[in-house]
Amino acid sequence: MTDTPLGFDTLQIHAGTEPDPATGARQVPIYQTTAYAFRDADHAAKLFNLQEVGYIYSRLTNPTVAALQNRITALEGGAGGVCCSSGHAAQIMALFPLMGPGLNIVASTRAYGGTLTQFSQTFKRFGWSATFVDFDDLDAVKVAIDDNTRAIFCETIANPGGYITDLDAIAEIADGAGIPLIVDNTTATPYLCKPFEHGATLVVHSTTKYLTGNGTVTGGAVIDSGKFDWSQNDKFPSLSQPEPAYHGLNFHDTFGALAFTFHGIAIGLRDLGMTMNPQGAHYTLMGIETLSLRMEKHVANAGKVARWLEKDHRVEAVTWAGLDSSPYKDREARICPKGAGALFTVSLKSGYEGCIKLVEGLKLFSHVANLGDARSLIIHPASTTHRQLDADQLVAAGAAPNLVRLSIGIEDADDLIADLDQAIV
Ligand SMILES: *Cc1c(COP(=O)(O)O)cnc(C)c1O
Repeated sequence: MTDTPLGFDTLQIHAGTEPDPATGARQVPIYQTTAYAFRDADHAAKLFNLQEVGYIYSRLTNPTVAALQNRITALEGGAGGVCCSSGHAAQIMALFPLMGPGLNIVASTRAYGGTLTQFSQTFKRFGWSATFVDFDDLDAVKVAIDDNTRAIFCETIANPGGYITDLDAIAEIADGAGIPLIVDNTTATPYLCKPFEHGATLVVHSTTKYLTGNGTVTGGAVIDSGKFDWSQNDKFPSLSQPEPAYHGLNFHDTFGALAFTFHGIAIGLRDLGMTMNPQGAHYTLMGIETLSLRMEKHVANAGKVARWLEKDHRVEAVTWAGLDSSPYKDREARICPKGAGALFTVSLKSGYEGCIKLVEGLKLFSHVANLGDARSLIIHPASTTHRQLDADQLVAAGAAPNLVRLSIGIEDADDLIADLDQAIV
């Protein structure tokens, strides 16, 4: 083999894994163990001191989970990664090393409903806060940043769909402020977009969605580009100064590009305990092997369904960013050149009631609170995922009462169109 970097389709099958050193098992075994025997007392001490990398206890690390961490890191082109129990856990894990009481983040108004609630409500319990801004208004993003801001947060293709964030422009603002840009890449996946190539510092995932791809397990991941200098200012003492929670270890000086990753394991998983289990990691490893094939079909089907819907007289608007009518079409070419994903919304002329009739009348589409499944899914955000929001927030989040969100699966597009045709009122 030459030193040419491996392609995406190769990495999604091989990265992070080799035949099991103990047995030769070709597929990654499910290491169903809580603890790992130390060779001797010195080995144990070195592991706890982080002087030697190895396995101690499965709240921190596990070989099956490590294989998945390494594979997602390779696909994103990052330096290191930590998996955890869900996408929401990944968001807390990403912010935990950066935040403290009185500190804030600047976040896009366009985001997964659960994320808006986590940031606006549950953050308060930690003394954190979030300022929500329209990320198409770059001046407003700049103005929202103050001395206490520690990160900017957005989604690549923002849930409930059809909006693509101008990652390059936002990354430039984050750089200027000396703070990291955290991008939730769940709905794009690294196949459609690699946020690090657009200046992101950290990528978070709900691996529950496309990475697993069949609606079987929840999981999350935090991937670090390894490129952010945590010591460039005094904003990130947990990384750049002696950390009392790890007997005064300076993560930045000790681990360089892997500082954030080691912090995530040694302090984040150790003390927050949002660990991914090896069974879950196994399911996601299986799913990732076919990620590119599935994403191609998801995008192709989304295009066929969106174009059909756009022409239908019962439909008011369709937000898929791959449509010529989308205001984000140019961003598709720049940020998601392999396609605008498979998540978008449809507004119906028949309003809120029409949306309820549609979700109840469909036969192939499942009415569920999930996305990124092989099967097609539908949900009415205003009455479900986004119901915590008031009327203004609903519109700002792209979740008006007369629209439904579709997550287009990998079935035959004609069958999906026929199902929608018989159910739309
Ligand atoms: C689902 C989702 C989350 C939350 O992930 P969970 O695995 O459900 O905790 C976060 N962001 C986006 C974009 C999502 O779709």
